[in-house]
Amino acid sequence: MNQYDVVVAGGGTTGLAAAVAAARHGATVLLVEQLGFLGGNAAIVPAWLGFHSLDGELMVKGIPLEAVERLQLEGGATDFHRDPICGSVVGVNTHWWKLVAAEMASEAGVAVRLHSRVAGVERRSDGTLGVTTECRGTRGDISTRTLIDCTDTGEVAAMGGAELSRGRASDGSVQVASWSFAVNGVNTLELIDYLLEHPEEARPFPDVELYDWLAGLRQAEIFVLGAFKSLVARARAEGMDLPRNNVPGVVFAHRGEFFTVASRVVDVDPGDPENLSKAELTGMRQTKEWLTFLRTYVPGFSNADLAATPHQIGLRETNHLLGAYQLTGEDLMAGRTFPDGIAMGAYHLDIHPPDHAGIDTQRPPHYQIPFRALLPREADGIAVAGRAISATHEAMASTRVIPISMALGQAAGTAAALATRGGCELRDLDVDKLREALAADGARVS
Ligand SMILES: Cc1cc2nc3c(=O)[nH]c(=O)nc-3n(C[C@H](O)[C@H](O)[C@H](O)COP(=O)(O)OP(=O)(O)OC[C@H]3O[C@@H](n4cnc5c(N)ncnc54)[C@H](O)[C@@H]3O)c2cc1C
Repeated sequence: MNQYDVVVAGGGTTGLAAAVAAARHGATVLLVEQLGFLGGNAAIVPAWLGFHSLDGELMVKGIPLEAVERLQLEGGATDFHRDPICGSVVGVNTHWWKLVAAEMASEAGVAVRLHSRVAGVERRSDGTLGVTTECRGTRGDISTRTLIDCTDTGEVAAMGGAELSRGRASDGSVQVASWSFAVNGVNTLELIDYLLEHPEEARPFPDVELYDWLAGLRQAEIFVLGAFKSLVARARAEGMDLPRNNVPGVVFAHRGEFFTVASRVVDVDPGDPENLSKAELTGMRQTKEWLTFLRTYVPGFSNADLAATPHQIGLRETNHLLGAYQLTGEDLMAGRTFPDGIAMGAYHLDIHPPDHAGIDTQRPPHYQIPFRALLPREADGIAVAGRAISATHEAMASTRVIPISMALGQAAGTAAALATRGGCELRDLDVDKLREALAADGARVS
């Protein structure tokens, strides 16, 4: 079959949610992914997911929550644990993500085309979109009414005529990239003893919350760190070349693993292969240095070894859709609501600034994301979900995380199916009906 109601480009967790939602609403759906599995970033290096607001309210539900509950049933995810910065954290196992993502797509009746890149989009005179896929020189041509870009760069939407911008508004710079990695063999009891003796070494946030959080460490399956500031300072003084002044990461206490985004690669140009090649090599060099640091300086890490490395450097930010509405950091911090709100978020604005070595964190109240942030200003038949929605450098530092991106995927997929059924353009969709459909499917829209 070469004709589908909906084509989803990019089979990460956002694309999975979009495809499953559209198929559950009766659309014929093709999900196109250039790698050999579904799940994207989430299925490559371990991550921690935040679903709750700071006051403990579950802000993201629907397909993202369903996926985590399925992972938990398989033993592929921890329970939810309270966190003073992320709201809550749940740790997921990358291998289980791949299996559960494949099952969810298959159960929903989504056609999956792996090892295939969306390489071209053309507008046809009958109002359909022609989508070209490529697999090692073999081309495939598909016709569709709606294309959802979940590639994380917006590049497929741009092929269909959508406008994009790059990075932050002032100079186009993007957040720093990281060659994230995980180590195993961590003696977590020794590590926790050290953190309890040196609480100032655990995380940078107000004391009262820190002590409250520390009290629960011995029972936690998973906990987040922004740690070892004085150990990093000592190692630097003794000649180590470490790109950050502390180590952000997450401890999977029950299995003696630590995942970290301590690598910090600056001046990355996501569109320049030479620059990206240098960035990969820098990330690998930094990883070796960090591993030596952990083994030499940090209690509990003397036997640690590499357990997971990424398939490519992690780009936190590339392009942003210039959409019918652009979500801003101010919208998030004000907890702004919208008549066309289709998803909620409360994750902190986790900005890894291009030009200094720390992380700028702002903790918003819960906020809403409008449907218009998923739609290009002009190009019909296209929606964008995930990292490249129409949001500023500051706002996307919160909306980019996996649960919120998946909620946006679910909204885009549901909208595409409803537009197909109603024979209308996405921008003419009755947004109240979309919100009702999402709520009926268990998603949170307000
Ligand atoms: C270093 C780093 C650490 C992070 N840590 C966390 C964390 O702990 N928790 C969290 O919630 N979030 C984290 N994030 C953010 C999160 O990983 C992403 O924002 C999230 O994965 C978004 O999911 P996605 O499906 O939109 O994108 P991705 O997972 O990147 O999936 C996009 C998919 O599109 C495919 N693709 C791209 N172009 C094409 C094309 N032309 N044709 C076909 N397929 C294509 C790619 O192969 C990929 O599988 C982190 C990000 C980085 C960079």
